[in-house]
Amino acid sequence: MSHQESYDVVVLGSGAAGLTAAFTAATEGARVGVFEKNSRVGGTTAWSGGHVWIPANHRMAEVGADDSLEEGITYLTALARGLVEPELVHAFAENGPSMARYLEEHGAVEFFAVPGLPDYHPEHPGGKPGGGRTLGSTLFPFDTLGDWKDKVEKSPYYSVHLRMDETGIGSAVPKPPSAEEIARREEQDERGMGGGLIGALLAGCLRAGVEFHLSSPGVELVVADGRVTGVAVEDSDGRHQVTATKGVILATGGFEWNEEYRKTFLRGAIHKAASIPTNTGDALRMSLKAGAALQNMREAWWIPVVDLPDGVNSMNLEMINADRTRPRSIMVNRAGRRFVNEAANYNAIVGAFHAEDVTAFDYANIPAWIIVDHTNLTTYGSAGRPYSGTTPPWLVEAPTLRELAGKLGIPADELERTVARWNENVAAGVDPDFHRGESAHDLWWGDPYKKGTVEGTLGPIDQGPFYAMKLMPGTIGTKGGPKVDAHARVVDLDGAVIPGLYAVGNTSSPTGPTYGGPGGTLGPGMTFAWIAARDAVGTD
Ligand SMILES: Cc1cc2nc3c(=O)[nH]c(=O)nc-3n(C[C@H](O)[C@H](O)[C@H](O)COP(=O)(O)OP(=O)(O)OC[C@H]3O[C@@H](n4cnc5c(N)ncnc54)[C@H](O)[C@@H]3O)c2cc1C
Repeated sequence: MSHQESYDVVVLGSGAAGLTAAFTAATEGARVGVFEKNSRVGGTTAWSGGHVWIPANHRMAEVGADDSLEEGITYLTALARGLVEPELVHAFAENGPSMARYLEEHGAVEFFAVPGLPDYHPEHPGGKPGGGRTLGSTLFPFDTLGDWKDKVEKSPYYSVHLRMDETGIGSAVPKPPSAEEIARREEQDERGMGGGLIGALLAGCLRAGVEFHLSSPGVELVVADGRVTGVAVEDSDGRHQVTATKGVILATGGFEWNEEYRKTFLRGAIHKAASIPTNTGDALRMSLKAGAALQNMREAWWIPVVDLPDGVNSMNLEMINADRTRPRSIMVNRAGRRFVNEAANYNAIVGAFHAEDVTAFDYANIPAWIIVDHTNLTTYGSAGRPYSGTTPPWLVEAPTLRELAGKLGIPADELERTVARWNENVAAGVDPDFHRGESAHDLWWGDPYKKGTVEGTLGPIDQGPFYAMKLMPGTIGTKGGPKVDAHARVVDLDGAVIPGLYAVGNTSSPTGPTYGGPGGTLGPGMTFAWIAARDAVGTD
């Protein structure tokens, strides 16, 4: 059966970028339809921590932080390595605070400023070692969503009833809520992190009259006289055409689950994606067919990952951040040598995984192993899970470093030398080789109870047995896609705007290699979504 529908604005995808665009367009008076490929709303965003990074945001003064538009632009420019158009840096920095304020003032989302959480490169010009740019998502009561509450994605990685700042990642120390408080949250189905953000945006969209179509992927753009006038959608009734009189906003996430695109475009190997598997680069294909130019194709939001056996979580992987940064741990390559500041942020560190050994003509640091001692394991657990008394199956265990090296197939003498040098440096309180512990970023991560001190990340590896975890490069989403201008309008190969077509979020993140700080993907994604919606609707 084929049928016709018409909206002012059609949004493809229901992550934070899609829902921010839909909410804004509807609030500005447009009739909006959201078409989502998945059977549930929320995309990777609903799986995420829900942090939103916005320089000079309206809430940072509440946590004693100050900032300015100029500092934000200076910082973003310093990280861009000349790979981001200055007009796009300005567009994000200038509109980010307005976007966040708009969502609050129009009742969609309530943010709070996360105290103390540093930028990812806080010592770069304009960086914030004391944080303030990261906005957290408050708890949202899903029982107010009626039938929609069961149509939102749940994170395979995080407990849905927690706020990020309660986990020890978004806070000075872990502040788990009491059992009574958790019971109350379960009763009202109050969810935090990315789930809370999506719940709040979804509620705002529904109030504003946005219509949702699940299990309805957009498959092709409709172009008439050079203008995008709609999109072909496939659902259980077959393929049909949906008209968009004011614009189509592509917010279908990245292409990380499309192996062909990964191989064609990304700068280096990816073992696994941690994002939602429906993100297969559909909007990239659609916009290429419509004549779009491309941008930022080689980049992703990178992260190291470890394979988990069946049954631990539904993705069979875990993203590895805290483990790398804690005392009594280092990372080594197959030569048994350290190769990086292990406590560097997850996006930057994958650059070291992509380094070449030109003699071997192979990646020098894939795979890598985290080496920890018994005190590390029993104190901090592994891969986000507390120590249970037995060695988790993703760790290789041996009584000595020499035997561990044998099991890993790496040179034992070299591993022993590496650990001995590490222990000497730890005793002196410095890491002259890779400068671990010198950045405010490194001092935030590490041992949550020693935050701010070098002992929070430097510690000897001297209590056997010893353990190794195999780390591989991964991603939480790719960045590249159709090239956009400062209004998030897609442009063609000649630089001319393709009228009626916008691309936002990970569908096209014009951020170069930059990951500014915690929330650095959702901040630009939601900001360009807000810009796109207002441009489509014609808001001044
Ligand atoms: C565990 C984890 C924690 C994270 N924490 C943070 C954090 O705290 N802060 C931060 O900034 N980033 C974080 N990230 C990254 C962040 O989640 C993503 O970068 C972000 O969600 C991307 O938003 P998006 O709206 O572009 O895409 P998504 O949220 O992935 O949404 C894209 C949607 O498009 C849909 N879609 C795909 N194809 C089609 C089609 N053809 N038609 C219609 N719909 C389609 C998909 O099904 C999906 O629902 C985290 C990621 C992970 C995995």
